[in-house]
Amino acid sequence: MGSKVLFTSVEYDKYDASATLPAKFNRMLDHLGMEKVVKDKLTVIKMHLGRGIGYTTIHPLFVKILVDKLKEFGARVYITDQVTEGARVRGYTEEYLGVPIAPVCGITGKYFYEKYVDFRTFKNVDIGGYIHDADVMIDLSHVKGHGVCGYGGACKNIAMGCVTDRTRQQIHGLEGGLEWDEDLCTHCELCINSCNHDANTFIENKYTVNFHHCTLCTHCVKVCPVGAIRMTNNQYQDFQTGMAICTEQVLKTFEPGHVFYINFLTNITALCDCWGLSTPALVPDIGIMASQDIVAIERACIDAIKFENLNLAGVPKGMELGTEGHLFQRLHGKSPYIQLDELEKRGLGTQEYTIEETF
Ligand code: SF4
Ligand code: SF4
Repeated sequence: MGSKVLFTSVEYDKYDASATLPAKFNRMLDHLGMEKVVKDKLTVIKMHLGRGIGYTTIHPLFVKILVDKLKEFGARVYITDQVTEGARVRGYTEEYLGVPIAPVCGITGKYFYEKYVDFRTFKNVDIGGYIHDADVMIDLSHVKGHGVCGYGGACKNIAMGCVTDRTRQQIHGLEGGLEWDEDLCTHCELCINSCNHDANTFIENKYTVNFHHCTLCTHCVKVCPVGAIRMTNNQYQDFQTGMAICTEQVLKTFEPGHVFYINFLTNITALCDCWGLSTPALVPDIGIMASQDIVAIERACIDAIKFENLNLAGVPKGMELGTEGHLFQRLHGKSPYIQLDELEKRGLGTQEYTIEETF
């Protein structure tokens, strides 16, 4: 059986507004069980408000539907994100949405609660005060690819978006996957010329990899005549482990049953919304999922995004795709399932799920 994941599809059967996604989303919210939880509660909507000239975040119309529904249920609602500057460009305004929009650590960036973890170099989970102080969280996520972890959804929205820059930097500090031996290197630069992803360079004579761009294709490893570069033991996985650890700490601040996950499978782009740009969708729009189990909803979303539906316009022209694994793994070189395994290991949910479609 597994956990219940609600799903409403972009498919429609007639030219009628009530058959289209906003109306279906509105009806779906009545089935999520929020009404009995949010009444009189301080309810935070955590979403990614986007950056720069990106236009493929969740459309404000849907956010307004959610806000109005929560208010109807008696919730005291506000919206937060790590950065709120520029949200207005995409139409996320207090005037339209009718609720406050606040940076997760306040306007000074200094309002947070420190928690301590111990995973390699990752030590500090600084949880934004505007998350920590809420009674209920709606984790409202735009599903897309992510250069460092393959997939970005509900877990990424929490782990990278509910915390301080220090915590984000520590999680990014876990990136890896290649090792370079300075003593063996002859600086022939064959490795640089063999990289199709502009992911490697020499900085002050040291081989340096941008693991966001690196797909771990191993071209540089194979071309090196002296064996100076080698793959580490799947060290790229540490970033996803770090995200799961961070997510666990954030979720601990809520009582059981006080977090709801809503994932939008629309405009599923290659990169995270923090890039401040939009590219064509990788696959046709799918719909919206909702659940109270973060692992189940993430698994259901990843499963719904299929390589056979790939729209090549969503991939940079000429980019070489991998041959194995999920679409996101072929695109970014990293399995998107690791974060789910890590969340599951920590008892945060199950990858077993049952889809319940709402219309
Ligand atoms: S290919 Fe090998 S030897 Fe040549 S620069 Fe790269 S790491 Fe050094
Ligand atoms: S593994 Fe591939 S993508 Fe990564 S730096 Fe080497 S050649 Fe570039």
